Parts: sequence; C-alpha cells; structure tokens
Amino acid sequence: MSSAWSPFTALLVCVNLPVIQSESASSSAPARDDRTHLLDLSLAEFQTWLTEHGQPKFRAKQVFGWIYEKRVRDFDAMSDLPKTLREQLAKEFVIYRSQEAAVQTSRDGTDKLLVGLADGGEVECVLLRDGHRRSICVSSQVGCAMGCVFCASGLDGVDRNLTRGEIVEQMLRLQARLEPGERLSHIVMMGMGEPLANLDRVLGALETARSAEGLGISPRRITISTVGLPPAIDRLAKNGVPYNLAVSLHAPNEELRSQLVPVNEKIGIDAVLAAADRYFDASGRRLTFEYVLLGGVNDAPEHARELAQLLRHRTVLLNVIPYNPVEGLPYVTPSKRSIAEFRQILESGGVNVMFRQRKGDEIDAACGQLRRNRNAK
Ligand code: SF4
Repeated sequence: MSSAWSPFTALLVCVNLPVIQSESASSSAPARDDRTHLLDLSLAEFQTWLTEHGQPKFRAKQVFGWIYEKRVRDFDAMSDLPKTLREQLAKEFVIYRSQEAAVQTSRDGTDKLLVGLADGGEVECVLLRDGHRRSICVSSQVGCAMGCVFCASGLDGVDRNLTRGEIVEQMLRLQARLEPGERLSHIVMMGMGEPLANLDRVLGALETARSAEGLGISPRRITISTVGLPPAIDRLAKNGVPYNLAVSLHAPNEELRSQLVPVNEKIGIDAVLAAADRYFDASGRRLTFEYVLLGGVNDAPEHARELAQLLRHRTVLLNVIPYNPVEGLPYVTPSKRSIAEFRQILESGGVNVMFRQRKGDEIDAACGQLRRNRNAK
C-alpha cells in the first residue's frame, strides 16, 4: 500500500472522519438576498459588467485578487478600489451567500463543514491537511439522484444542482481555514452529488479554481469523481482540460453493480468502461477507479478476480476502501481476512491498487451523514 496522496484520500476523509471538535451554528436560512452572487461570475463576465457600468476592466482583476488571493469577504475591505465603486458593488453583488451550519475537526487536523445554503439546503465539504498538501473535497448537488445503496448522501434523493457560485464558495470557505501562508493544492469533486449530472456548473466552478485570477490550481491536481455517465464523460473529454477522472465502480459485474449503483441498470459496465477509455485517450490522464468494499456483498474472492479481469489491461489506479457503516443502512465493514485476500488477488492479477484501512468510526463521519443526522435532530 502506498502512502502517497490520491483523490481517494479525500474520499477516505469524507467517509472516515474521527471528530475531536464539533461546532454547530444556526441552520436557519438567511433572509432572501436578491443581489447577484459574484462567485457565479467568470472574470470575463465580471469585466463585462464593469464596462457596462462605466468602470475600467482592470478593476475585475483587483476584485478577484481580493477575494481569491487575499481571502476578503467584504467589498469595503478592498482598499485600492474607489469608495463609490465599493458601494456600487455592495449594492449589486454578494460575495458569500451561504453560512457554516456545523464544523467537525478531526485529530489529524481535517475539517468537515456543513454549509447552509440560502434556500435552506445543506451540503458538506472537507479540508484535508496531509504533509504539505491541502486538499479539499467539494459537493456538486444538494443530495444525489444516483441512489448508491450504501451512501448517506443519496438516501433522500436529489433536491437540486448547486450553482457555480455555491461550488466555488465551498472552496473559499475551506481555503479560509488555512493559515495565511498556506494554499489549497488539490480539489476533488467527490462530496455530495454526482458532478457529471451538474457538469456545466461544475466546469464553471473549476474554471475559477484553476484560473490564475482564481485559486490557481492546476487541472492535474483536480479530480472529478463520477458513477460513470457516458455522454457527460464524453463532454468532459471534449472540454479539453485534462482533469483527473475517478470512476466509482463498486462492483465487478452487471448484476451486482445494478444492485449497488442503481443507475447502472440503464447504462451498463461496458459503456462506463468504454467512456472512461475514451477519456483516457483524449486526456492522457491515468484513470482512477473506486471500489467501496462492503462486507459480504462485493468482497468475495470471485469479485476480486472479476475486477482484475476488467482492469488488468487498462492504465488505471484502483482505490479500494473498506466501508464505513452508516446508521440506518444494513452494510458492514469487511473482515480483515477478506480485505487481505481481496488485495492479494488484485495485486497478483496485475492491477495497480491502493488499499487503505479505515481510520475511525465516529458518528456523522460518512459523507452526507452530518447533514442527515442534524436534520433528524
Ligand atoms: S456515492 Fe456519490 S454518486 Fe452514489 S449516491 Fe452517494 S453521492 Fe451520489
């Protein structure tokens, strides 16, 4: 097992966060605010707004610098802008539209935020401090329609897609938790929701994340995780930016995958793998496959052999994670013995596999569970 960081490390944190500190805040929705969410805009769109309002274009870069580089949340603090412009911007735009509904901090310095949205919806996002890396795991939807049977995020279906600004705002909220000299280094779209079901807004948010005037993070350090929606994977490939793609497989055959990831019934593993192969051809980026190991469900030796058969001739990294139980769901962590056997079969089958042990059993640790448990209270 390698100890190197991978996109899956962030998922591990999403599902295995040992909590040492938990803070709650009001979860009531803030008063309705009709101002435009500035984080919804690209630099070009904001430049257009400025020129249409008689302002020089260069002000856009100044404002973006204050927000993304200097982490300022208030137009009034943008001291190199004329006062009249600051007032005009404050009247027209809001920078932060959400609020922190709860924060959990683990012993290893990982922070998990429950973000309360303006309409009362809630999503989760995570900051992981690992050596010099500062990685974040971000949500793309309120809830999820994919219905993976072991996942807390999808238990109640999907409410709506997040806006570009709501996705960017999670990134900024997590960035704000860093020390002044620290920078975000990696982003994983692996929180609540299926990012490819909200592709346009996810791509917009990631444009902000990677642009020099935004967070300046290389696409090679950005991963989009999906259950595998072939038309959207093809659109992502056509987009031409070489993001990393992580495909959640979770089962090595059609019947089992359709049980665990119901959307598979309409798609099929072959179509998912073919789309992933096309993405690899187009981007040149090594593919990641994810496999949540459920005790007594998908952890048998024959499953490992089938999985090796599917992946052995592909340029992939397979991330396997033993399941972290979610209250109310019938799935359990696999035994140490079945984990060891599963791993041995994959390794001897020639699969490049990263296999990690669970870290903790804290309440609210699984992705989507913090939101769910708070709502139940
Ligand atoms: S595992 Fe991901 S895709 Fe599946 S229901 Fe949960 S959030 Fe959605």
